[in-house]
Amino acid sequence: APSYWVPNKDVHECSSCKLVFGSEHSKHHCRACGYIFCDTCTTHRATVPLLDIKTPERVCDKCYDKLQPSTLSSVFQNNYVHTQKTNPSEYETGGSDSSADPNLYHIPMSRRFVELVTNNVGRVMYDYPIKHIKESTRPNYWRPDSECHSCFICKHRFNNTTHRLHHCRKCGEGICDTCSPNKRPVPEREWFTPERVCKSCDEAMDKIEQ
Ligand SMILES: [Zn+2]
Ligand SMILES: [Zn+2]
Ligand SMILES: [Zn+2]
Ligand SMILES: [Zn+2]
Repeated sequence: APSYWVPNKDVHECSSCKLVFGSEHSKHHCRACGYIFCDTCTTHRATVPLLDIKTPERVCDKCYDKLQPSTLSSVFQNNYVHTQKTNPSEYETGGSDSSADPNLYHIPMSRRFVELVTNNVGRVMYDYPIKHIKESTRPNYWRPDSECHSCFICKHRFNNTTHRLHHCRKCGEGICDTCSPNKRPVPEREWFTPERVCKSCDEAMDKIEQ
């Protein structure tokens, strides 16, 4: 049996209706949560994203509800909205960025998010790792916000007004607005439209191009 299945011998009652299993009852594993249920509590069949099998499998009533496509998409949407709301600096909303051209940032970010959904469809369902999503939607070469206390170049402490935290798309360091005045494509990081780069990367890239 798959490792996430609760062992048969340890279970004496249905995890849902608490029916005590006798010799006349059969035990069934829910393919999604792995718990054991009676016949009547596992009448539904659903495709379980975790299993990578495209045919509907036996699931318990609770998991059946969770696995409905409408529920799935609302879970993703909620997480996504939640992530954006709680981290205004992370997506560099506000400031000069959003007024310049909002599409500039939305194209690569939304593309990354779509990839994330297809990769993690199983995980997101089961433990709602909001933190995990937050980390994955940002490029992994970026220095985490928690480590960015002051600008990598001018060393000024970050705040929400004059020295907002931004990330250089080239080196991934946390930098302030003043130290990242220019935008340019960074093809080696898969940014093909002009994106924020820090002063020192900007100069370094200038030298290479000359
Ligand atoms: Zn039952
Ligand atoms: Zn279940
Ligand atoms: Zn700075
Ligand atoms: Zn840089």
